[in-house]
Amino acid sequence: MTSVIMAVVYAVVSRSEVTGLSQPTQCQHVHDPAEHASRLLGLEGVAVQRVELDAFGGRVVHVVTEDETAAACPSCGVFSTSVKERVRTRPRDVPHGRVPLRLVWHKTRWRCREPLCDRVTFTESLPQVPARTRLTMRLRQLVGAGVADGFSCVLAAARAHGVSWPVAHAAFVEHVTPLLEQELPAVAVLGIDETRRGKPVWAQDPVTGRWKVLHDRWHTAVVDAAGTAGLLAHIDGRTASSVAGWLAGQPDAWRTQVTHVAIDLSASYAKAVRDALPDAVLVADKFHLVALGNQMLTEVRQHATRQARGRRGRKKDPEWAARRRLLLGHERLTHDAFARLWNALVDAGEPGAEVLHAYAVKERLRSLLALAPGADRELISHRLYRFYAQAAASDLPEAHRLAQTIETWWPAVLAAITTGYTNARSEGYNRLAKHVGRDAFGFRNPVNQRRRIRWACTRQHRRASATTHHTLPG
Ligand SMILES: [Zn+2]
Repeated sequence: MTSVIMAVVYAVVSRSEVTGLSQPTQCQHVHDPAEHASRLLGLEGVAVQRVELDAFGGRVVHVVTEDETAAACPSCGVFSTSVKERVRTRPRDVPHGRVPLRLVWHKTRWRCREPLCDRVTFTESLPQVPARTRLTMRLRQLVGAGVADGFSCVLAAARAHGVSWPVAHAAFVEHVTPLLEQELPAVAVLGIDETRRGKPVWAQDPVTGRWKVLHDRWHTAVVDAAGTAGLLAHIDGRTASSVAGWLAGQPDAWRTQVTHVAIDLSASYAKAVRDALPDAVLVADKFHLVALGNQMLTEVRQHATRQARGRRGRKKDPEWAARRRLLLGHERLTHDAFARLWNALVDAGEPGAEVLHAYAVKERLRSLLALAPGADRELISHRLYRFYAQAAASDLPEAHRLAQTIETWWPAVLAAITTGYTNARSEGYNRLAKHVGRDAFGFRNPVNQRRRIRWACTRQHRRASATTHHTLPG
């Protein structure tokens, strides 16, 4: 059998020599077919001895060590010449062609004769096949890179390469950890936002029969809000101390570069930023501010319907029918559509009037937030005044509460108007994080989840740094 295969290898090699295919420019004439086979295998440190076919057509490649340093004791480094026994291992390797290829490595177990060394014996190991590994390093790298960028999840990569889930996962961790643990790039504008990890877990109290939340886990994402550095960290929890702890753990040089921090109106994040980055300016995220305005309007609508009709809204109630149009930006409604909305609500009487008032408050807030960076201070004060006046003119507690919130957060709201910074990037990364979660069919392990998400949300940064690297002269 062996001689047949060797003949085939030899025939292929001879033909390629005749036709000039795959001839290197500097031809080194090698007449030993086994050496050609070794070149074809391309696994550093071993030489192909022979290739056999198994009963199913798979190839079994027998290799021997061809690296003198493999005989050096890993403990003391002294070369051994005393053979204890010959052993064989079967490290898994990258696929070569469509037919399965199995490696059999014939290697030596040596005795260490160095009197000062504790080790009695050792088997050979190579950089490509270290001791106690069942995979060649190049297969590990292929699997790790596959999980990172090629396959949708660990299981898909594991199946494609014929390894187990834990092996593929470990290869992925090895592949990404050095890159993720690199120093953070300089960031001027941070964005901090929360994401829920999975669904809240509810449980019923056996005595009272009431339902309560058992677990509700949150992650906090810290992103580069104005650049391309992506997701900088995914912190477990959303308390002031967990976020401040992460911020305080960063190098001083990095922290001093942060000038602004965009957050939603979260008191704990604001506290974390004040504690850990006292010189940074807080910026309230405009999207969340508009969402607060919309929420106020919805609460007023529901409240007004309950008060006037003694029940929830129904299709025939004009304010219920208009509920979605009310949340649209005023500029997105045509003149006619707005006239119809207005007339329908006016005809609805008391609840309609309240809803229209809340609509006006919401629109005053939006016109304030719509001011572009560099807007005149007087114009800002004028629009803020109109918003406060509109809210004060109503007797809607929801509108008063909104005005109070804006007043409390005014420095951060003003910073949002004058700088134009938002936390939109965080929302984009949240979307990506959910996508990664769905691809993986959920995560059991939060550490793995954070690693996978961070990897997915820093892709743009890696691409950008790779491009800069290539375009640098020299
Ligand atoms: Zn030794």
